[in-house]
Amino acid sequence: AKGEGGGRFFFFDKQLGAEIRLLRQLEADLPAAIEHDQIDIYYQPVLRLSNNEVAGFEALARWCHPAQGQVSPAKFISIAEETGLIVELGEKVMRKGMREAASWHSSTWLSVNLSPVQLGEAGFCDRLKEVMASSGFDPGCLVLEITENTLIRESAAEVARELFREMRDLGVRFALDDFGTGYSSLSTFRRYPFDNIKIDKSFVRDMLTSPEARAIVQAVIGLGRGLGLKVVAEGVETEGQLEALRDDGCEYAQGFLIGRPAPRSAFGDLSRPFFLG
Ligand code: C2E
Ligand code: CA
Ligand code: CA
Ligand code: CA
Repeated sequence: AKGEGGGRFFFFDKQLGAEIRLLRQLEADLPAAIEHDQIDIYYQPVLRLSNNEVAGFEALARWCHPAQGQVSPAKFISIAEETGLIVELGEKVMRKGMREAASWHSSTWLSVNLSPVQLGEAGFCDRLKEVMASSGFDPGCLVLEITENTLIRESAAEVARELFREMRDLGVRFALDDFGTGYSSLSTFRRYPFDNIKIDKSFVRDMLTSPEARAIVQAVIGLGRGLGLKVVAEGVETEGQLEALRDDGCEYAQGFLIGRPAPRSAFGDLSRPFFLG
């Protein structure tokens, strides 16, 4: 038994070593990847359940690494945050996304994820304005996604308050991402005028098997209705989940069932309203 344990540790060490080497490699390669445009955007549709219209698309970063293939943002966003490269990466994603979305129909929103590190930079608000102006994008089509945990960092919260103050007049909207998983309180909704709430995919995943998860989904939908916010359920993978969300009165859904994140070319003409199904 002792030998077996040793073997397992050896195996574990080797795997861990390979994982660490890969992360170091990615960290070394990321600056050039950003510089040489190896970061692409995939778009994932958000469906309005009342009429099956694609209400908007979420921009999700993808790294096409010459040796590693497609690297998940789960791996490189945290590296980008730790090294500060997220500031440049995030700006490229915004610029590319807004340029592509400038020709979309005026009712189709583009949502972009913001990292707490990006928000921690003073001057973010001015850079965002510059990107909007130079891309010809209508700010009324932009949704900025912020997680609860972003708002508990004082430096980021300060810039967030500035963003809300200055961007709302331009028509920019805000979504509270991964709702229910972070450290926040309901007073967030009194302090920050969010427009959308995104129910985290962990609740949607379990909603048909866990009464607690279902109750949380229903409570968030009720909260959104009471506060006049749009509620988007994330991570919808099955017809059963979609049906349950309809039954519970959820207005918007996003997930592999509706559409996987895909390159812009997968969606064809977006200058007109786009319907699925
Ligand atoms: P997120 O903002 O919560 O984005 C949703 C994630 O859920 C995406 O993962 C998407 O591919 C995945 N997803 C969508 N539908 C389903 C489903 O039905 N089932 C499951 N299991 N997953 C689904 P992705 O693209 O790997 O991105 C992971 C995270 O990386 C994002 O989570 C976001 O926090 C971050 N991220 C991605 N792009 C950017 C970016 O440009 N900037 C920043 N700051 N963060 C980004
Ligand atoms: Ca437009
Ligand atoms: Ca998001
Ligand atoms: Ca999310």
